Amino acid sequence: MKLNQLNGCQEHNQFPVGDLLVSACDKCRRVEWRSRDGEVDPSEGMAALFGSFELVGTLDALGSPAPEVLVYAPPSVRKRRNLLAFPKRVWVKAAPDLWLTHDGENLLLATNHRLLFENLTRGA
Ligand SMILES: [Zn+2]
Repeated sequence: MKLNQLNGCQEHNQFPVGDLLVSACDKCRRVEWRSRDGEVDPSEGMAALFGSFELVGTLDALGSPAPEVLVYAPPSVRKRRNLLAFPKRVWVKAAPDLWLTHDGENLLLATNHRLLFENLTRGA
């Protein structure tokens, strides 16, 4: 996807999380990962925000971008706040082949990419 394809969005709000600025859009479903030095790789962003989250189960979710949804619980209330950088109950594309949302309590991930799925389920 090209940078100028914002699907009608004029600009995206940036949500500060630690050293990162995350913009996750509930309209065009894009996620941008940034730091003071510029763009951040999505996998680094995911690791920074959610690396300490624990896989607690899977869901068969209707309406998700993939048939199976991985459920991750935050290790603390403080870490749970990282979820607030993302729209609740709206799937956004956190990385190539990786969709993300949350319900205010747990992180929900969906992917059709088999290798990524296995990496995720193996635990960080
Ligand atoms: Zn947007």
